[in-house]
Amino acid sequence: RAQAEGDSAYLHYSHQMQQEVLRDAQLGSALKGAIGRGEMEVHYQPKVSLLSGKVTGVEALLRWQREGQMISPADFIPLAEKSGDILPIGEWVLRTACKQLRRWHDEGHDHLGVAVNLSGKQFRDTQLVDLVKDALQESGIPPQCLNLEITENMLIERVEEAIETMKRITELGVQMSIDDFGRGYSSLTYLKRFPINVLKVDQSFVKDLPTGQKDVAIASNIISLGKSLNLKVIAEGVETGDQLEFIRSRNCHEMQGFLFSKAITPEKISAMLRSGKHL
Ligand code: C2E
Ligand code: MG
Ligand code: MG
Ligand code: MG
Repeated sequence: RAQAEGDSAYLHYSHQMQQEVLRDAQLGSALKGAIGRGEMEVHYQPKVSLLSGKVTGVEALLRWQREGQMISPADFIPLAEKSGDILPIGEWVLRTACKQLRRWHDEGHDHLGVAVNLSGKQFRDTQLVDLVKDALQESGIPPQCLNLEITENMLIERVEEAIETMKRITELGVQMSIDDFGRGYSSLTYLKRFPINVLKVDQSFVKDLPTGQKDVAIASNIISLGKSLNLKVIAEGVETGDQLEFIRSRNCHEMQGFLFSKAITPEKISAMLRSGKHL
């Protein structure tokens, strides 16, 4: 009997795995033509200054609308990374975000910045710096208004090459952020050796503020570490007024999170900027 139960658990498990493999294969092939079919959209989440309360910039977040269903980037970015489709998709996001920022500047919000997430493959792509130059030229935005977000885990291998790429990007005047700081293989070496402008405190450390003793310790120390290194520090995933008060008390520079706004369409960002919404 035990054997039979084991078999059925196994069958159930393997059926589930098959379904997942199938789903991934279907998503993977649908991904190829998604931009061409107009299924991809870039939404933008505001970043807000804790000092002025104003929107200082936005982060571009990719959205895939497939057959009426929204597929999370957490589900399809890894597939795109594996297949290599992330290169054309990432290029499209970067160009789209720069052109959109230009429109906001033309609408009179010329202080605004835009941050674009890079995947590991994009960061290692030898064409990246030329692509960034091209996106800047084509949109005409000031390089200081563009920020590229990478994660710590992209910096573990081929360190010298990564430093070189980041140097070439920051020499253009473009800013670089470490996203999800503290979640990956954090090493203080990165902060010492890599040209970085912004540290984004991972949302997992914001979640239990202000009551969770460990988050209090970790978030406080990441904020003061970043500040003492003259980096801009942004807290991600701020959902409550208490979390906001906490990061404010630690003199964190900026916040991003559902408390202020989730990622929204560019039209809605325009309306928000016109309305002067602030913290
Ligand atoms: P990320 O860059 O760390 O982006 C922040 C994620 O947290 C976004 O999820 C955002 O919607 C979500 N978020 C923001 N505020 C809150 C909050 O208050 N509470 C909670 N629970 N979540 C919040 P999203 O849009 O699903 O993106 C997930 C990840 O997918 C991103 O994490 C980023 O790593 C990746 N991603 C998104 N767009 C792109 C892209 O264009 N290119 C690449 N390479 N990766 C992307
Ligand atoms: Mg990000
Ligand atoms: Mg993040
Ligand atoms: Mg992330």
